Amino acid sequence: MGLTGIQIFKLLPKTNCQECGAPTCLAFAMKLAAGQAELEACPYVSEESKAKLSEAAAPPIRLVTIGVGDDLFKCGGETVQYRHEKTFVNPTGIGVLITDVMSDEEVAGRLNRFKQLEYERIGLILKPDLVAVKDTTGDKDTFKGLIRKVKKAGIKKLILMSEKVENHRAALETVGDLRPLLYAADKDNLKEMGNVAREKKVPLAVMGNGLDEVMELTNSLMEMGLNDLVIDSGSRDVKGVFADQVGIRRAALVGGEKLLGFPTITFPCEMTRNTMEETLFAATMIPKYSGVTILSDLQGETLFPLLVQRMNIFTDPQRQMATSEGVYEINNPDENSPVLITTNFSLTYFIVSGEIENSRVPSWLLVKDSDGLSVLTAWAAGKFAADSIALFMKKSGILDKVKHRKLIIPGYVAGISGELEEELPDWEIQIGPREAAHIPPYLKEWS
Ligand code: SF4
Repeated sequence: MGLTGIQIFKLLPKTNCQECGAPTCLAFAMKLAAGQAELEACPYVSEESKAKLSEAAAPPIRLVTIGVGDDLFKCGGETVQYRHEKTFVNPTGIGVLITDVMSDEEVAGRLNRFKQLEYERIGLILKPDLVAVKDTTGDKDTFKGLIRKVKKAGIKKLILMSEKVENHRAALETVGDLRPLLYAADKDNLKEMGNVAREKKVPLAVMGNGLDEVMELTNSLMEMGLNDLVIDSGSRDVKGVFADQVGIRRAALVGGEKLLGFPTITFPCEMTRNTMEETLFAATMIPKYSGVTILSDLQGETLFPLLVQRMNIFTDPQRQMATSEGVYEINNPDENSPVLITTNFSLTYFIVSGEIENSRVPSWLLVKDSDGLSVLTAWAAGKFAADSIALFMKKSGILDKVKHRKLIIPGYVAGISGELEEELPDWEIQIGPREAAHIPPYLKEWS
């Protein structure tokens, strides 16, 4: 919230009725300013004050949604220029382009890969988000036919791309209920595209030739009452796109420029024909500050690194990345397989689970919640101590999964083995390797 507690207090009813749970209106105002309370908690705040406070609370980059219900994609809503200041909120949407000149086979291949390429990392599912359907022939029926195919494939988060307003109208007859993003209003069709977006209540992309033109266009559309806008600055070379992305974010956040306070869309698919270059351009756009980025195709070897990069950029830098606590099965373990334990710092989990996988030895990996700290740090902070490990072991369900009672602990915390044996009298505590790289030979000889 941009207002101070005192500024907010001036907009509250000042009756000190305490219905919001705060002892006074001033206390409530202070909580609001600190982001520890919601304005809705006060039932008596006037509509006028509500409007003022909501405006002040709105993020400088507007939150725009594409899709409906459970199939909702969010972009924008950002409040900081640099990730280390706080956190980036809504991950860049990764989309794939299909056009009405592609063969049925090509379209089906892209749609299949869109649906099938997904990866699980630290309890999160990483996958692409959107399909951009492009009308290149200008033929309404051909475009509609392609849209139908996409809808039939069960794709619900869509970007409709056409230069013809009537083709957008025709496409919306089929997928208007999915609330797609329309691409794009430009200086030649601004009013007509604005009217379609307003009538159909769908978000609208704005394409200008440079930021000055973009601002003229967003200004006109805002005057028409449209606020769910996504910006394309028009650049198609990496230097220009990069400069525009940074310029838009700075103008909106630092300069308070409302005409540029919208998420952006970029098109690495239109910047090169080289797949590797395209991937590198997308990798540049994700941290710098694309709301949506469109690729020409999806292949595991290029998509996966982008998804992991996106996951890293859009995590809170002030919080350790943590894996969910639990029992992880690696290489199909059974009741005789070794049981290892580690902490839930994601990097530790990735390395340890990767080495176990490499060993090809079926194993159980217990991951204990340690607030995302690594083994030694968690031990030093008392979050990987014998008593809490014993408690976790009992509730984890591992006792029912294995016949033996042998637990392998990380070599770095060999010092807790005595205490662990006291806490888990039925278990033999075995000291595992200090370095994860030594896990495969250790497991191969384990008994
Ligand atoms: Fe003040 Fe509203 Fe809280 Fe009552 S509910 S104390 S009026 S802020």
